[in-house]
Amino acid sequence: MQLLIRGGIAVDTDPVSVTAADVLVDGGRIAAVGPGLAAGPDAEVIDARGMLVLPGFVDTHRHTWQAGIRATGPDISFAGYVDRVIGELAPRYQPDDVHAGTLAGALECLDAGITTLVDWSHIQHTPDHTAAAVEALRHSGIRAVFGYCSRAPDAAVLTEYLGHDLVTVAIAPYGPELVDESVALGEWRLARELDLPVTVHMGGHGAESAARGLDFLVRNGLLNPRTSYVHGNHYTDDALRRIAGSGGAVSVSPLVEVELGLGAPVTGRALAAGAPTGLGADTVVSGPGDMFSLMRAAYALERARPNTGFTTRDALRIATADGARTAGLGDLVGTLGVGRQADLVLLRTDLLGVAPAHDPVGAVVLSADTRAVDTVLVAGRVLKRGGHLLHHDVAKVLDSLTESAARVLAA
Ligand SMILES: [Zn+2]
Repeated sequence: MQLLIRGGIAVDTDPVSVTAADVLVDGGRIAAVGPGLAAGPDAEVIDARGMLVLPGFVDTHRHTWQAGIRATGPDISFAGYVDRVIGELAPRYQPDDVHAGTLAGALECLDAGITTLVDWSHIQHTPDHTAAAVEALRHSGIRAVFGYCSRAPDAAVLTEYLGHDLVTVAIAPYGPELVDESVALGEWRLARELDLPVTVHMGGHGAESAARGLDFLVRNGLLNPRTSYVHGNHYTDDALRRIAGSGGAVSVSPLVEVELGLGAPVTGRALAAGAPTGLGADTVVSGPGDMFSLMRAAYALERARPNTGFTTRDALRIATADGARTAGLGDLVGTLGVGRQADLVLLRTDLLGVAPAHDPVGAVVLSADTRAVDTVLVAGRVLKRGGHLLHHDVAKVLDSLTESAARVLAA
């Protein structure tokens, strides 16, 4: 099945480049990018005149189950978040609540042009909770890495969910900074046993904790390229170089880290150390869920540091190509490269606040918002068209989310 996206401005991401070009999709992959492309007589054609065509955004860290408790904690601190969200609300979540939150959260991503999501799901109270989370991700149509985080991790539960094309699995350990080393070792043993990547909160809880956690990984031979380090605010430049040297990646949640008081986001320092670096929404309890907000937060924070030279092109690259590397999917998505999965976003430029988009990259990073997201494809499947999500009854999804949130918050 061919699909021709015709007449748009192609914005590629590695390196960032802008050209007037069609994009031909065949069998779910990008088959060609260039001017005046021809397609077969049965090809579906999408008119992209006046639009920017770019690879879908990659959110490298989000607790997707929290969509229903959005904005319950504005101005919260990290201690306040742990007490209220992890201590009080999370234990009340039943499998239906996990499903409602995860489905709404994944659709919120697609609606906003995020086509790949690393879902850091620390709500695995029972195997039914795990089933609900994975089912919701699959049902949404998004490409996701399901980050399994459990107090009692169970290989048998997870093996059921391996081998799916769009929703793959990672181990999301609590890690040596939050649990006993023996428990953390078990988390990494599970990753090794199932041959899965790891995504772990580390380095965001003070200098001593950051150094101790990294030392644990070094001592146990656990520094490896299939690891993404979430936050990392307190890593020294040496520590970041060590992570980069091992092939590890860094996931930055620029807005929530600052808000919760974790420390200055390491975006520019991680890039300087040579680590693939991606962005994450982290939690919508106290932050925005769209990549435009995250790019702008990262950009502003980096520009506030002296002489970093951080540009809008850097912001776009970490939101796409570098994000894909951070998610462990750098060979599959994140650019307009021929052969990549056709995870694409078409952004309108004919809107107040976006037009005229003289510099398309500047327009994406500094001007556009979710209103501009016209069309979204994942693996060549059109999931949003003409500004509307397809395949889902959004009103019903929101009704379920509201009912779930009422239960959780009233308990
Ligand atoms: Zn997190």
